[in-house]
Amino acid sequence: MRKSYDVIVIGAGFAGATAANLLARLGKQVLVIEKRDHIGGNSYDYIHSNGVLVHKYGPHIFHTNYKEVFEYLKEFGEFVPYKHKVLANIDGTLVPVPFNFTSLEMLYKEKAKPIEEKLVNKYPNQTRVSVLDLINDDDKDIKEFGNFVYEKVFAYYTAKQWGVSVDKIDKSVINRVPVILGYEDTYFSDTYQYMPKDGFTSLFDKMLDHPNIDVMLNTPANRVIKLIDGKIYFNDELFNGNLIYTGALDELFEYRYGPLPYRSLRLEFEDHDVTYYQSNSVINYTTSEDFTRISEFKYLAQQDIEGKTTILKEYSLAYTKENYLKVCPYYPIFTEENFALYQRYNDLVKKYPQISLCGRLAEYKYYNMDVVILKAFELVKTIK
Ligand code: FAD
Ligand code: UDP
Repeated sequence: MRKSYDVIVIGAGFAGATAANLLARLGKQVLVIEKRDHIGGNSYDYIHSNGVLVHKYGPHIFHTNYKEVFEYLKEFGEFVPYKHKVLANIDGTLVPVPFNFTSLEMLYKEKAKPIEEKLVNKYPNQTRVSVLDLINDDDKDIKEFGNFVYEKVFAYYTAKQWGVSVDKIDKSVINRVPVILGYEDTYFSDTYQYMPKDGFTSLFDKMLDHPNIDVMLNTPANRVIKLIDGKIYFNDELFNGNLIYTGALDELFEYRYGPLPYRSLRLEFEDHDVTYYQSNSVINYTTSEDFTRISEFKYLAQQDIEGKTTILKEYSLAYTKENYLKVCPYYPIFTEENFALYQRYNDLVKKYPQISLCGRLAEYKYYNMDVVILKAFELVKTIK
């Protein structure tokens, strides 16, 4: 460990690792402090005892329209093309999600074609539409179709995932998953859809492997950082450099105003002695079961392993006043009340001009990996 640092970065996920890597390249001495026993944040993966590359915090698929993000990541490892597809189990039938014309034909049978024609005429030159537009359409048949998709794809899954009825969820969350006006069957539509050949953690290893970077694992920020009257202390010594914080703001300020609401997950992994457990990488259970989806990791890494596989069932979990210190904050919950609470914490941050916030937790935003990396690019430009 060095004696002094120009920048301290809290958190070794994509926000922290990108910022640390870029600042180290600019000649800054950087210390990364991470409370978990590994780097990689929620994108961390590892080789399980049966040889399967498992994503410890749920399935992570890289997709982006930002060329600069993809070019940057390629510096740290090889990427292989991977077009992610998801199926939904709707009353026992597996159909593509986002719901497309194949899904429509599988469930509506001979009644599908007239609806498809109406949709194409109503939304010309459009390959995707929000289910929220469909349910408000003035055409009776389109509206009915919209209500069907809303009910069969979104209502139960969303209630499970967010613990409230679908009409209480911010539109931007629902609109992450469109209805496809055609046969396109990939989950994402981004230009760059690839997976890191050797997994995400291997990228992080290389991002943080720089002579100007030190990493401290198993260290919650509050153990070594103190914030007092606008000043930052590191190991009880005044720290005059920059502090990039990528964790949750309530934790930074010791939950002074109470916990910021998140949705958490209970992740149940299962090993099976079969070559494949299910017919697709991810199957969403949109009309049945208590878990939201089952992921089978071998498909993501395109691994060829005979007779062994690992799956993950995701159960959504409330983040309550009783359990928030024990479970992970995964998804910010968009309500005005929550934004107001976030803002109160953010006002505390403003008293510390050396602190910059970056990432999904710190900004309380439903960011994908690529956007987090982009945010770190932008942040680094502001650090002198
Ligand atoms: P994180 O990855 O959460 O990293 C923050 C790090 O900071 C963590 O390691 C944490 O331990 C550490 N930390 C926090 N507070 C402190 C503290 N006080 N002291 C010390 N360390 C601290 N994105 C995609 O692009 N594609 C996907 O397919 C995808 N799937 C997802 C599936 C799930 C189930 C979830 C929850 C998210 C998914 N995401 C996906 C989003 C992706 O995980 C995030 O965009 C990304 O991990 C955000 O990176 P980050 O660095 O902001 O945060
Ligand atoms: N969603 C749904 N049914 C699905 C897929 C998604 O209702 O089959 C809703 C649900 O509310 C979910 C949101 O759309 O939280 C966003 O889905 P996405 O796949 O982007 O969620 P993530 O992968 O981030 O959990």
